Amino acid sequence: MKVFGSSGTRGVANDELTPEFVLKIAKAAGTVWRTDRVALARDTRATGDMLADAAASGLASVGANVDRLGVVPTPGVQAYAEIEGVPALMITASHNPPEYNGVKLIGDDGIELSVGSLERVEEKFLTEKFEEVRWSETGHSHVIEDSRERYVSQLLDNVDADRIADANLTVALDPGHGAGSLTSPEFFRKLGCTVVTTNSQPDGHFPGRDPEPVPGNLRDLGRLVEASDADVGIAHDGDADRAIFYDETGEYIEGDATLAALAAAQLEPGDAVVSAVNVSQRLVDVAHETGAQLELTPIGSTNIITRIRELADQDVSVPVAGEGNGGVFFPNYRLSRDGAYTAAKFLELLVDERASAIVEPYNGYQNVRTNITYTTDAEQDALLAAAERAAVASNAELNTRDGYRLDYGDAWVLARPSGTEPMVRIYSEARERHRAEELAEEMEDALRAAKANV
Ligand code: MG
Repeated sequence: MKVFGSSGTRGVANDELTPEFVLKIAKAAGTVWRTDRVALARDTRATGDMLADAAASGLASVGANVDRLGVVPTPGVQAYAEIEGVPALMITASHNPPEYNGVKLIGDDGIELSVGSLERVEEKFLTEKFEEVRWSETGHSHVIEDSRERYVSQLLDNVDADRIADANLTVALDPGHGAGSLTSPEFFRKLGCTVVTTNSQPDGHFPGRDPEPVPGNLRDLGRLVEASDADVGIAHDGDADRAIFYDETGEYIEGDATLAALAAAQLEPGDAVVSAVNVSQRLVDVAHETGAQLELTPIGSTNIITRIRELADQDVSVPVAGEGNGGVFFPNYRLSRDGAYTAAKFLELLVDERASAIVEPYNGYQNVRTNITYTTDAEQDALLAAAERAAVASNAELNTRDGYRLDYGDAWVLARPSGTEPMVRIYSEARERHRAEELAEEMEDALRAAKANV
């Protein structure tokens, strides 16, 4: 797909991602959806209202009335779409820097559009075969004043609020000036938590930190946890579909450790858990210990959603899925990532144990990453052929959904071509540093030898 990547379309606003571009996407989506009503929302980005106005015009011109939700987290729009049975268009660039913006399309089931549906929208976009209506049939905007309250109350309906309230937790929250600034403080207060915040005023210039919830951007949160003696620190990305945690000592918790802890609490023998092909050994170990099946997809949430749907069609229970970046699915709740809901599931664990103790079993895993660059197609082919030979020659369990992942039970190594740069990335992970290094070096040596022979 040229227009839509695996997570929607994004670019520098008013440069790559212009109002004209968004207007055309809205016309194309409205033409494909053939519906008289579409929901429209945005995150806090400075260019959000400009681009939302363009989207509203495009939708109205192909005959759709537009429910304007204003600033709402992406999972809030998804909840609205599912409950109202209308498709939705979200203006967001998720975790990208402030100058970016983007478009995400959501079906009337509340789930991100599948690759097939996006391709239909893209075809309309490229051919410009829009179904514009007569002047008297154009759509109108309706402001939905209580969109955020509706989202928070449906969240409260889906978590064990009484149990969390009884624990008298203190939550340090960093919504990073994003859409969660307007919903997560209220949600955690309604769960009976004492809430202290940083970077919690909605601001599309993101003065306190960039929208991506990575340790380098979250030092304020670590300090706030310590200063406020909080039980946990919680951070969101710009559209609040992800949650990253700090323990009660102010230490950052790896997203992979959180995913493993949440999965361990959810999984029963015979269940499946779905993740991407670069999944941590932590989740491999949890799946093994609980007797659950681990299903790996190519990297990207669209691929994870597709696999969960396939498994559901085979009556396989998938109570949890996701990646180590803080984006977790609880498909029994909704097939979307929801930062506030994910945080509530972690708070449920905090009722019985401190945050540091919850993730303690998942500490001490060692990761190695290296890259091998190439300059010609012949070199790239040689690198991938060498990875395949190494995979076939090994006694590991092999997964080829996105590169070559070799699982040894106690450790793994993955060689996959980068989607954005001319390089093959090698990742490995084990409990012991020397084991992770050994596996990465074996793969690297094989690939470097093949490249030298081109
Ligand atoms: Mg996001």
